[in-house]
Amino acid sequence: MSRLAALGGTAAVPKDQRRAPWPLVEDEDRKAVLSALDGARLVSDTDGTNPVSELEQQWADHFGFAHCVAVSNGTAALSLALSALGVGPGDEVIVPALSFIATGLAPVHQMAVPVFADIDPVTYNLDPEDVERRITPRTRAIVPVHLHGAPADMDRIAEIARRHGLAVVEDAAQAPGATHRGRPVGSLGDAGAFSLQVSKNVPTCGEGGLLVTGDAELAAAMRRGRQFGEVMDPGRERDYVSHGLGWNHKMNALQAAFTSAQLARFDDYERRRQQNVAAFLARLAELPGIQVPTALPDTTHVWHILRFRFDPAAFGLDGVAPRALRTALRRLLRAEGVPMSQYQLLPLPDQTVFVDRLGFGAGHPWAVTGAPGTVRGEGYPVTRAVIEDSLTIQKRHLNPDSGPLLARYADAFEKVWAHRDMVATLAGAAS
Ligand SMILES: *Cc1c(COP(=O)(O)O)cnc(C)c1O
Repeated sequence: MSRLAALGGTAAVPKDQRRAPWPLVEDEDRKAVLSALDGARLVSDTDGTNPVSELEQQWADHFGFAHCVAVSNGTAALSLALSALGVGPGDEVIVPALSFIATGLAPVHQMAVPVFADIDPVTYNLDPEDVERRITPRTRAIVPVHLHGAPADMDRIAEIARRHGLAVVEDAAQAPGATHRGRPVGSLGDAGAFSLQVSKNVPTCGEGGLLVTGDAELAAAMRRGRQFGEVMDPGRERDYVSHGLGWNHKMNALQAAFTSAQLARFDDYERRRQQNVAAFLARLAELPGIQVPTALPDTTHVWHILRFRFDPAAFGLDGVAPRALRTALRRLLRAEGVPMSQYQLLPLPDQTVFVDRLGFGAGHPWAVTGAPGTVRGEGYPVTRAVIEDSLTIQKRHLNPDSGPLLARYADAFEKVWAHRDMVATLAGAAS
């Protein structure tokens, strides 16, 4: 049995094999960006004739969406979707307690109050029962997140939304290509929001976002919202007449061109990623005390982030605190060359902006209805447990050539598990 790297042994993942760049920038990407630049098609006013409009069409065709509206980033996409659906002051929007901060900020951008619901302990997505408990007469919308690339329980969320007359905006920032009963995520609610930020599964060379919807009128409202409230028709000269509140949330043409080139390789990357991750998870699933990521039946997970929960009792460490086990494993695995990290250090309701009602001044938007801020450290037991007892691997596996690297990661896990006495000593000392 080889010595742990933390104790001076040789690391399971050799230093010169640890690279797995993302995004992959190929000649097609460079050509696409240069061609947009040289073709003088740099206008970002999306009038149907430039790289931005082309990307919208390709995204809709590739995944199967009726309408696609390109915007500046995923956060703007979420805000704009809520705005186009009429969410505003005094409204409440239910979002999961475990997500990236943008999911909680988007309602605030519309002067609505985010109401957090707990998550499911296996999918890490909205717990429909907790969603239902948090509905009030002020609730206007639900924002399920397909966190880490795994579809949320859209059957039950859609049913709850229908019964209570609520809008559904899917936060699909981490899940392009994921499906739910054969349908693409983003098409299951009223609108879906994607992010093209460089670390996401379909990247651009910077920042970008895409909105999708099956509703032509909603798409038109989102188009107006991204462009100062103006209506831009293909072939018609811009008239600079604003028909309502708008922002400048337009996408940059060079970034659209880059993503179009990436999208052409997406299916190939996705196929290889599925193989790599499946082989990796199959090895880890054999180890006691580890919960590997899975998806709901009849859904596909697209593995944006791999989250592992660790259970001290099943590991053979009864009485050790989950956080102590996680801390010991992070130290030992990182020493072996596996970049284990936490994704989200806090439940969203513990973030200062929501606890201290920091919005538009004087406690707004919460002050509109007198809603209190959230209370730090209170509620959301599943979200808290998951944050305490899990670690993630991010981005490395997005590289379609990372199969061998993931095999070395599996070696590292097996090696650490073979030294469970050492894990016990470390975790026990921290307990
Ligand atoms: C990345 C992300 C966003 C925001 O996207 P940006 O393009 O970075 O603004 C929103 N929600 C989730 C779940 C994300 O991962």
